[in-house]
Order: sequence, then structure tokens, then C-alpha cells
Amino acid sequence: MSGTGKVEVTVTVADQPKGAGYREGEVVFLLNGKDYRTRTKVEQYDYQYGDGEVLTVQTATKGAGVDLVFMGDCFDAKDIAEGKYLDAVNEAIGYFFAVEPYKTYRDYFNVYTVFGLSPDSGVGDVNTIRESKFGSAYVLGGIAPDEQVCFEYACKAPTVTEDRINRTLITLIENTADYGGITYMWGDGSAISCCPMSEDVYPYDFRGLVQHEAGGHGFGKLGDEYIYHNEFIQTCSCLCCPHVDEFNASKSRGWYENLSLTGNMYDVPWSHLIFDPQYSNLVDIYEGGYMHMRSVFRSEPNSCMNNNIPYFSAISREAIVKRIKEYAGESYSFEEFKTLDVLDASTAGDETRSFFSALEFAASNKQQHPVYMGDKPKFN
Ligand SMILES: [Zn+2]
Ligand SMILES: [Zn+2]
Repeated sequence: MSGTGKVEVTVTVADQPKGAGYREGEVVFLLNGKDYRTRTKVEQYDYQYGDGEVLTVQTATKGAGVDLVFMGDCFDAKDIAEGKYLDAVNEAIGYFFAVEPYKTYRDYFNVYTVFGLSPDSGVGDVNTIRESKFGSAYVLGGIAPDEQVCFEYACKAPTVTEDRINRTLITLIENTADYGGITYMWGDGSAISCCPMSEDVYPYDFRGLVQHEAGGHGFGKLGDEYIYHNEFIQTCSCLCCPHVDEFNASKSRGWYENLSLTGNMYDVPWSHLIFDPQYSNLVDIYEGGYMHMRSVFRSEPNSCMNNNIPYFSAISREAIVKRIKEYAGESYSFEEFKTLDVLDASTAGDETRSFFSALEFAASNKQQHPVYMGDKPKFN
């Protein structure tokens, strides 16, 4: 309340009771005996959900329950009070389940929203420092959140524990309209998919980012199918992309079922689909993927793992379903998969791979491949 010379003044504002609504006011500091004033503005928001609160969006009605946690970063009290946080998260959840096979298998999932209150609104960068709950900020390699806070908050969801985090997908909605989705992956299966609310044109919009980052990488453990370089992956010397060693390491964890370094139709992971009448008209061997034009193979002309279109290739759908069934504690059968499988011809059939726009887009260097973070995440 007082002091001489340089001192620090701490202003503490008491919580409002719930339902009190919005209020703002100023605290005016007057220098003793001088006609000098300085002011600080105080705003208080009343919000339904406070920091750390959990909302159960749905509970699994099939299987043991596969956990998804959606959280927002860089949303401040005003954003939460005005419903922006919940709207953003609900929009993302809608997109996650708007594409097959998630649409058909939705009942297998427990879906949670955990609230995180950021001091500032919007994603900061090196020039504009903004404080955020989960540490998200643009750095050289893309948006980088603080993994420990993310995992700590995800574990607030009722069925999510440190032991189960490796089977839980965390999707972090970033409060920015800029593109720049990125997924952080750990060897044990843990993952954080960062999805900005991109306002770029289709298919690089918010929906595209959620489906590619969260549905494709984060949960499906699928690899990127887009192409940056005209090189053979074995001999490419680029410094921006992972190559054969990283590819094989991911394969050894059971990831990247949608990609292959062999073009032999009997050895690719989708060999059984090439010769199955249900898929043979669409599934084949196409060269190009995992950032490189040569000596990497994919199974269909285009898919969400290339340029975010709302369509996962058949092998991608199968890989996702296998993982859902495994996490749900049920056994997988190819025949059952085929019976339930929905081929959305409106997205698969007539939308051919727009090669040049994808190359153009890649040239702008906005698509980020997943980042491997080591065996296991760190916990506080
Ligand atoms: Zn390369
Ligand atoms: Zn990707």
C-alpha cells in the first residue's frame, strides 16, 4: 500500500461469485502529495468452466473406451467467458468425427474437453511474447507447446492416467487463424496434435488440420504422403526432412502403414487390399510420399495424409480401425472391417491429387511433418 523510491505494488482482485457476469474497472494510484496518477485496468469475466475443469463430451458405449482429450491453448478469460474456447474445441471434435473411419467408430471413444486458462489471447512468437497455459508459441520449427503441462492437464480427464497416456490422443486447438499444424509423437504411442484454427482455403482449413494432424498422425500414426523434393529418399541430402533411418524406426513401432519403401505389390502393407475386389479398383502402388518423390510408395492417388482432404485411404482406415479395436480391448478381423467400412466415393473418387497446388503449398513450407520426441513423455 505504500513505499518510497522504486517499489513493487501488487494488486490482488478477489474472485467474483459465479453468475456475477462481466465487470471492469480501474485501480488509480496517486503519488503522495503530488498531482500524479497512474492507472491499471482490471477486467473480470464470469465463465462456466474454470482452469482445469473437465467436460465429458461423450462416454464410449462400445469396447473399453478409447480416450481423446481436446484442449485449447492461447485462450484467455475473455475467450472462455464468450464461449470461444468451447466453440473451438467442439468444432474440432466435430471435424475429428466427420471423416471415416472415425464417423463409423465414434461410439468407441471417450471424448473430453479440459479447460486451460491462458493469461493472454492468441499465439505468440519470438517478436510478440504472449503467455499461454500450455506454452504454445511459434518457434523456428513450428508451434511448440509445453508437453509436461499438456500431459498434466490431460490426466485430469476421469479415465486418463499416466499409465494410459500412451493410448490417449491430446489435441491442442491453437487460438490463431494461421496455418501451421504439427504433431509431437513419442515412441510409446503418446501424442500431442497442435491444430490452429486455420482460415486458409480448403483443404488447408481448420477441418483439414484436425483430420490430418489429430486423426491421421496423432491417433492413426500415419505418415505424410506429400512431396517436397524430386529426390530418391535413399540419397536425398536435404536437412529439413527425415529419411530412411527415421522411416524404418517409425515402421518398427507399427506406424506409417500407409507408406512403404518397397514398391513390390506383394510386400507393401496394403498388399491384401490390392487383390481384394472391394478395393482393387482404387488401391495400387503409387510412387511419392514422405516428402520425397522417388522410392517411397503410397496406396492411392490422394488422401488426407497428402493435402488434408476429408478422405483416408483404405489402408489408412484399416490402420486406424486396428488401433481403435486394440485400445478398446477387442480383437480385429479383416472381414468385420470390410463389412463396416464406408468408402466415401464423393471424396475418394473424383478428387484426384492436385499435384501442383500441393507442391506450391509445400514450397511455402507450411506443412510440418511430425516430430519424434523420444520413447516416453516427461511428467511433472
Ligand atoms: Zn530429403
Ligand atoms: Zn503431416
